[in-house]
Amino acid sequence: MTRYASPGQPGSAVSFAQRYDHFIGGEYVKPVKGEYFDNITPVTGERFTEIARGTHEDVERALDAAEAAAPAWGRTSPAERAAILNGIADRMEAELTRLAVAETWDNGKPIREPVIADIPLAIDQFRYFAAAIRTQEGTISQLDDNTAAYHFNEPLGVVAQIVPWNVPLFLTSWKLAPALAAGNAVVLKPAEQTPASIHVWLDLVADLLPPGVLNVVNGFGPEAGKPLASSKRIRKVSFTGGTETGRDILSYTSANIVPTTLELGGKNPNIFFADVAAEKDAFYDKALEGFTMFTLVEGEACQCPSRALIQSSIYDQFLGDAKQRTESVKLGHPLDDETMVGALVSEEQYRKVLSYIEQGKKEGAKTLAGGGAADLGGELSGGFYVTPTLFEGDHSMSIFQQELFGPIVCATSFSDFDDAIRLANSTEYALGAGVWTRDAGTAYRAGRAIQAGTVFTNCYHQYTAHSAIGGYGQSGMGRENHKMALNDYQQTKNLLVSY
Ligand code: NAD
Repeated sequence: MTRYASPGQPGSAVSFAQRYDHFIGGEYVKPVKGEYFDNITPVTGERFTEIARGTHEDVERALDAAEAAAPAWGRTSPAERAAILNGIADRMEAELTRLAVAETWDNGKPIREPVIADIPLAIDQFRYFAAAIRTQEGTISQLDDNTAAYHFNEPLGVVAQIVPWNVPLFLTSWKLAPALAAGNAVVLKPAEQTPASIHVWLDLVADLLPPGVLNVVNGFGPEAGKPLASSKRIRKVSFTGGTETGRDILSYTSANIVPTTLELGGKNPNIFFADVAAEKDAFYDKALEGFTMFTLVEGEACQCPSRALIQSSIYDQFLGDAKQRTESVKLGHPLDDETMVGALVSEEQYRKVLSYIEQGKKEGAKTLAGGGAADLGGELSGGFYVTPTLFEGDHSMSIFQQELFGPIVCATSFSDFDDAIRLANSTEYALGAGVWTRDAGTAYRAGRAIQAGTVFTNCYHQYTAHSAIGGYGQSGMGRENHKMALNDYQQTKNLLVSY
């Protein structure tokens, strides 16, 4: 096992600044009101830096800078923008460990995730949209011998992006790469719980972009997020976060008729059909691995498979094996490379998740694994750790309906295909789902019948740049990733010319 050195210690890949200001017009600027807030690492529960507390005035300054930069940036060629995005990717690749340690320290997630997934995938996101923008050409259609229609893809102008705390750098790349590739200027607001890793990233790449093209205003939702999302000066909002906040954002943007992408909550079913247990072979093992995917990012992921639906004929056997697998998931120091589950993001989230566990017990759910806080001792005793928890119950319980956003899975049985689909579609969310079966027909029919933006079949948690992500229903609107995301950051101009 390797333990990465903690920030500030000898040999650490990252050393945080004592404070981070806003980044506006190509430079760090102090908050107008002069206020800062503490940034706590969930690994130990200690303060490690302080962050500018943004207000309406800071947002206006960032919008001034973005508006000043947008016209020239929008006129750059796709090739020029692609070169810059590839430059960002190259710098990130060269400093992958630095970014990964920063992300883990800020968020609490196990270091293996940013090393193996978040940062490499974020790098690919920049490369993918650099390539995608170069394939765009205005299309010309001839109307008659004398008349032609020329279609141009124009950037929207200044766009607002608001990111959550669960996968900060990766989700930032989902938003920034298509927006910048399409030629927009951006004002980005990181989550108040995890702004620091975004600033470490910014330090690495900011000089590659013309001043004002990317601006970062820190702060809390109501103080900095709301003035940004409700500004009449923006041409789009892309938001990832809770469904309630999504509703608020939509109320601001509908007043201004501003296009809005919302990536919201999920209560994702993971369906195990009986044929999974036909043999205890590699496929069966992979399905058990898929079951424990609810532990990724400590379950603080909107796509986490948080409801396990298991066909009744294999229920006892499969759930027994899943329980053992859950108990063997390694909870530990987030900077150890073998740790599978680290700290929850904040004390608030930790208390919320523990209260959901108590709620599940009160509702009569049976606790098969975990079920409480974990004290890992030593320097981690002030951190926010919860044991991976497996509940058995049914869909009348609120823990089967509510998004819990912690390392908790709720398991239940189903009788046949129709029952599985009925249960899968029985929450207000419809973001992701998993289907496990050896039968191609069952996989296809289930994939089509489940109401969700993404159905992972015999796999889970795959988030490549060229695979679209987004939700139905209360899980949001619009899609991120895939070259279709470029459309959300562009207008089509039809120049109709008669010669
Ligand atoms: P949240 O909605 O409170 O915060 C997310 C972001 O929105 C933060 O940057 C926050 O400062 C900002 N914000 C809050 N109120 C705002 C307002 N009124 N106007 C503008 N901005 C505002 O979410 P949270 O509770 O911190 O995060 C957890 C939730 O996020 C979960 O419920 C989860 O479902 C959701 N989430 C969804 C996805 C997805 O891809 N669908 C990803 C991550 C998290």
